[in-house]
Amino acid sequence: MMPNFSYLRVNSLEQAVEGLTSPETRVLAGGTDLLGCLRDRIFPADKLVSITRLDKLRGIEETADGGLRIGALTTLTELIDSPKLKERFPGLAQAAGEAASPQLRNQGTIGGNICQKPRCWYYRGEFHCLRKGGTLCYAFGGENQFHAIFGTDNKCCIVHPSDPSPALVAFEATVRVVGPKGTRLVPMEKFHVLPAENVEKETVLEQGEIVTEIVLPKPAAGTRSSYRKVRARRSWDFALAGVALAVAFKGDKVERARVVLSGAAPVPWRVKEVEEIVTGKKLDASTIAKAAAATVKNAQPLEHNAYKIPLFKAVMEEQLTAMAKG
Ligand SMILES: Cc1cc2nc3c(=O)[nH]c(=O)nc-3n(C[C@H](O)[C@H](O)[C@H](O)COP(=O)(O)OP(=O)(O)OC[C@H]3O[C@@H](n4cnc5c(N)ncnc54)[C@H](O)[C@@H]3O)c2cc1C
Ligand code: SF4
Repeated sequence: MMPNFSYLRVNSLEQAVEGLTSPETRVLAGGTDLLGCLRDRIFPADKLVSITRLDKLRGIEETADGGLRIGALTTLTELIDSPKLKERFPGLAQAAGEAASPQLRNQGTIGGNICQKPRCWYYRGEFHCLRKGGTLCYAFGGENQFHAIFGTDNKCCIVHPSDPSPALVAFEATVRVVGPKGTRLVPMEKFHVLPAENVEKETVLEQGEIVTEIVLPKPAAGTRSSYRKVRARRSWDFALAGVALAVAFKGDKVERARVVLSGAAPVPWRVKEVEEIVTGKKLDASTIAKAAAATVKNAQPLEHNAYKIPLFKAVMEEQLTAMAKG
C-alpha cells in the first residue's frame, strides 16, 4: 500500500528547487520507478514534487556545436523515435530501446532513468542492508547471480540498472543539474557514485538538485556506436551483461574509443584497458581477442556470478567484430 505523502506539482524550476526541502521530499517524473519504491516501502517520502509541467525540460534539440541537448523529461520512446539520435548516436537509441517494456518507455523519462534505484532483490525486499543505512550487505554471502563483478569495494555489489547510462558515458555526455546553489555541469562518467565513495547514494545529486538536461557533444568524424544487452528473458529484463561502444575510425584504424559495460558494476563501468588496446589499431581478430580478454582482466566475481566473465568476453568480441565490419 502507498504511504501518505503530500504532492506538489510545480510550474517552474525555482518552485521545484524550493519545494525539495528535506531528504524525504522527492522529485517525481514519470513515476515508473519512484512509485514502486514507495509502494514497496523501500525508502520513505513525505512529499513528492512533480516536475511534469516543466515543458522546457522536454524534447531533443541541436546544440550550436552540432551535438544534441536532451531534456530530462524526454521519454525513452521519444529517444528511440528521434531521427537525429538514430542518425548520430545510434548506440544511445539502441540502449533506450533495450530498456524496460514499451509501456514503461512511453512513461519513463531519461532523467528518471539515470536516477533510478538499484534492483538488488535484498534492497527491493525487506532487508535493511548497508545501502538502506543498515550494517550488512546480504548479497555478498547470499544470492548474488545478478550482481557486480567490478567496483564493489567489498561494500555493496549492486549493478547500475540503466541501459542508456553506459551509452551516455560512451558518448561523453554532460548532465546539467539545477539546485539551491545554482547550476552545475557533471560529466556523465562522474554522475554515478561507487560504494567506496558513498554506499547510500547512487548519484552525485545533493538535496534539492534536479537533472534538467543531458548534453551530447558532436561525435568525432567516423564514429560508429552500438549497445548490446544480454538478459535472462526475452521480454523486459535488466542487463546480465551489456556493452556500449563509441568508436571513431580514421581509415581502417581506431582513432578513439569509449567502451562502457552495463550489468557489471555499481556504476556504468568504463574499461580503459580495452580502449587502449584498440586505439591506433585495425580491429582485426588478434586485436579483438586481446580486447575481449582485457574486458574481464580485473573482474572479481562473487560465488554465483562467475558466468558473467565468459559472457562479457563473448559480447565484447561480438560487438567489436560487428563494428569492424562497419
Ligand atoms: C518493470 C521494470 C523494468 C525495467 N527495466 C529496465 C531496463 O531493462 N533498463 C533500464 O534502463 N531501465 C529499466 N527500468 C527502469 C525504467 O526505465 C525507469 O523506471 C524509468 O526510466 C524512470 O523514469 P521515470 O520518469 O518514471 O522516473 P521516476 O520513477 O519518476 O523517478 C525515478 C527516480 O529518479 C528521480 N528523478 C526523476 N527525474 C529526476 C530529475 N529530473 N532530476 C533528479 N531526480 C529525478 C526520482 O526522484 C526517483 O528517485 C525498468 C522499470 C521497471 C518498473
Ligand atoms: S548489494 Fe547493496 S543493495 Fe544489495 S544487499 Fe548488498 S548493500 Fe544492499
